[in-house]
Amino acid sequence: MASIDLDFDRDHLWHPYTSTSRPLPVYPVRAAEGVYLELEDGRRLVDGMSSWWAAIHGYNHPRLNQALRDQTERMAHVMFGGITHEPAVELGKRLVALTPTELTKVFLADSGSVSVEVAIKMALQYWMSQGKTGKHRLLALRNGYHGDTFGAMAVCDPVNGMHDLFSGILPRHYFAEAPSVRFDGVWDDSALDSVRAQLEQHADEIAALILEPVVQGAGGMRLYHPEFLKGCRRLCDEHGVLLIFDEIATGFGRSGKLFALEHADVVPDILCLGKAITGGYMTLAATLCSDRVAAGICDGQAGVLMHGPTFMGNPLACAVANASIDLLLESPWQQRVQAIEAQLRTELTPCLESDKVADVRVLGAIGVVELKQPCDVGQVQKQLVDLGVWIRPFGKLLYIMPPFIIEPEQLRQLTHAMRVVSQLES
Ligand SMILES: *Cc1c(COP(=O)(O)O)cnc(C)c1O
Repeated sequence: MASIDLDFDRDHLWHPYTSTSRPLPVYPVRAAEGVYLELEDGRRLVDGMSSWWAAIHGYNHPRLNQALRDQTERMAHVMFGGITHEPAVELGKRLVALTPTELTKVFLADSGSVSVEVAIKMALQYWMSQGKTGKHRLLALRNGYHGDTFGAMAVCDPVNGMHDLFSGILPRHYFAEAPSVRFDGVWDDSALDSVRAQLEQHADEIAALILEPVVQGAGGMRLYHPEFLKGCRRLCDEHGVLLIFDEIATGFGRSGKLFALEHADVVPDILCLGKAITGGYMTLAATLCSDRVAAGICDGQAGVLMHGPTFMGNPLACAVANASIDLLLESPWQQRVQAIEAQLRTELTPCLESDKVADVRVLGAIGVVELKQPCDVGQVQKQLVDLGVWIRPFGKLLYIMPPFIIEPEQLRQLTHAMRVVSQLES
């Protein structure tokens, strides 16, 4: 087998958030199987990232491979304008059945960021249809992350989201303080003060509040109290503002519930799903909304939802999503995630004893060690690879969200590596 041309990669390929003038090393992966990534030199790394929340069943899964093969033989792709097909209909059925009853309409988008764009467009079109054209802004939370396209970026945390860099180009939205009460903390209603104040002042301009329920992901890996969601629902209703939940990271079991909104039993008007929807096989996302939102949009001047990407409802992606969802529901995923959570608590909590560590947070199959100082990503990445694990540090954050099929001994390798980087052990 020819070796991967790393010189070409360095000279010509962009990786996520990289510099072409000062490239960091990338690790050549030649195969992936179960919870292991296999490097070109034959080393096998235990995967702590699930390829960014997505590969919940691990890699190279026979059922998912087969679903993709079967669908390829029938039809890899066909346009969704004026045409429909079984994989899309079957996926729609699953999503409508699994999410709260009120969410009945499904838009199949091609990536998480696009599903957020669609959610924002739904909210704006909804209010336009009611003649409320002044409601053209969003309310979002500090430390939020919703994607990299311009609409999505504009609702990301204004500091991590690099609003300064694009000021004058990004639409300007309102921001409330990030939820201050931890997931397992003692609820205090004052955590809602900032959202309340923004809504009281600006509700006539605000179309929707968008947030990631319970787990703020890439904007800081913060885990907050579910009561916050109840308060947001109440405040949005009081002020005539739609509520959008972005469950792109949390959907499909990651937080210990099938969807993180179940921690609070709160139903949004619009819901974004992505990442784990295909078990990490293909890019696909979905935006669901209620009858009320859909009717509101379609009864207005435009008469239709103004969105329709070329690869919308791609049959291969829908087929593998159906197989992945079935596989998840047939598996004892809840016990698996609970067992991962218990082990993460036991093995990561001691990191607090290290004076390098600021905080440890665990929920479901998510484990976070927040360091006091940002780490040198290149150097720590190498250390982690040498320890036999794939964990991608990010600023001060060392975090994992492994595939649900991980065995205790493999998880132990991940937590050991995190303890070493935390300087709890060597
Ligand atoms: C990853 C992510 C997105 C963006 O999804 P992409 O598929 O990368 O476009 C949006 N919101 C949340 C919460 C995410 O974690």
